[in-house]
Amino acid sequence: MTSHLLVIDEGTTSTRAMLFSAAGACLGRAQRPVTQHYPAPGRVEHDAAEIWTLTLECAREMVTLAGGADKIAGIGITNQRETIVFWDKRTGEPLGPAIVWQDRRTADMCATLKQRGAEPTMQAKTGLRLDPYFSGSKIGWALEHWPQLKDAGCNLAVGTIESYLVYRLTGGLHISDATNASRTALMAIGSSGWDDGLLDLFNVPRDILPEITDCAERLGKTLPEHFGGSIEICGLAGDQQAATIGQGCLQPGQTKATFGTGAFVLTQTGRTLPQSKHRLLSTIVWQIDGERHYALEGSVFVAGSLIQWLRDDLGLIVCAPDTEPLARSVSDNGGVYVVPALSGLGAPHWQPSARGAILGLSFAATKAHIARAALEAMAHQAHDLKNAFAADGAEWEELRIDGGMVANDWMAQDLADMLAIDVERPSFIETTALGAAMLAGVGAGLYKSLQDAAAMRQAVMRFSPQMNDRERQKRLDGWADALARVLM
Ligand code: ADP
Repeated sequence: MTSHLLVIDEGTTSTRAMLFSAAGACLGRAQRPVTQHYPAPGRVEHDAAEIWTLTLECAREMVTLAGGADKIAGIGITNQRETIVFWDKRTGEPLGPAIVWQDRRTADMCATLKQRGAEPTMQAKTGLRLDPYFSGSKIGWALEHWPQLKDAGCNLAVGTIESYLVYRLTGGLHISDATNASRTALMAIGSSGWDDGLLDLFNVPRDILPEITDCAERLGKTLPEHFGGSIEICGLAGDQQAATIGQGCLQPGQTKATFGTGAFVLTQTGRTLPQSKHRLLSTIVWQIDGERHYALEGSVFVAGSLIQWLRDDLGLIVCAPDTEPLARSVSDNGGVYVVPALSGLGAPHWQPSARGAILGLSFAATKAHIARAALEAMAHQAHDLKNAFAADGAEWEELRIDGGMVANDWMAQDLADMLAIDVERPSFIETTALGAAMLAGVGAGLYKSLQDAAAMRQAVMRFSPQMNDRERQKRLDGWADALARVLM
């Protein structure tokens, strides 16, 4: 039997491998933390050589668990998006640190390009914003500042993390799937691939870039030496796109929200390329048989990191789950609101200079009120996104949630209450890995389509709205007031 699927999930803070049965059961996992490097304020780097070593270690554990390479029908890779790696084509060795998506070193470059009026055209082509978050400016910056890249001459290659891992696994295949490519700001997502105008904008030569591929097909074989036999790589997607697929958001309008360190909401829009007028992003959610499907995306910078801050910096809680009994221990927020703008505000406000606030404090306020207000802030931020999506024509009928925070039942119920829609939480919370397994299942031919592969999904738990309109409105008014003070 070769019906197992191996998933490599290369995230920002950890690298993981998971083994799935063709039916979708998770049979095992291996995980290693990724070292975070902060060489200067605003700079965030990873060591791509470390990522490669850790990936190989974790994947090998899963191949052993499966009983050998011949028991695995295909590999699916999902990854932190936008992070870039340069390497030498002859050796596969990195030519400098990986510049991570959180890195802000190109803020000035982006501001200058904006002043020159480059954003509207760039936005129309890419669905993104002129922001250091995306890969294009990072690539352009490194080409200008790192002499070793010039020295590599025609042996220079660049790519996002999945591209680098495929290169190493296959021993020389230089590809990137359309979802990852759509986050570089170098690709015209509605029509073709790499765009000459965008390449010029960021000073990136076309010949160092990978070929853009589908997300599910037989893309290439791993070198036999890695796993004691070749395995086909059959699925590739960025992490948020993989989570959208793993949540079964396959029809237009279906929406998922991942509450991890930050929160990322994607609404599937089908074959229609959405054009946001309300500060959301457009992105490719998958490409199969050359056919692109799109999504509207809203990114909130601070979600679970607010809970980490309550734990590590304020010492208000010992561990993140403590917030749940604390929130339940009081009947309401006591007038306390938290605006979690600790690293500015993302969608739909996009105010990088906004700063966080805790408002409405009196001597009656306890740490329980603050913990509750911190959790409530997730529903408040989601509510603002829901309005922006609706204004762009993407009404949420229900919301599928995942990520580390949604283990919190109180928060899941509060989301349903404040959004006034059903909220669905899968029993298997690793939706990103499941999405990559679904893509690999399609690419390997175990399933005909993503719709078929959705059979890999398991039971879900539903949270329905129970709050009355008056209470909801009171909360929303309090939030609007708090937000207005932060946005001043
Ligand atoms: P990432 O993938 O971004 O590293 P995860 O999806 O693993 O993040 O989620 C981890 C985040 O979830 C942490 O920031 C943590 O504070 C938060 N978290 C974990 N459990 C809970 C909980 N029960 N209640 C609230 N927040 C939680």
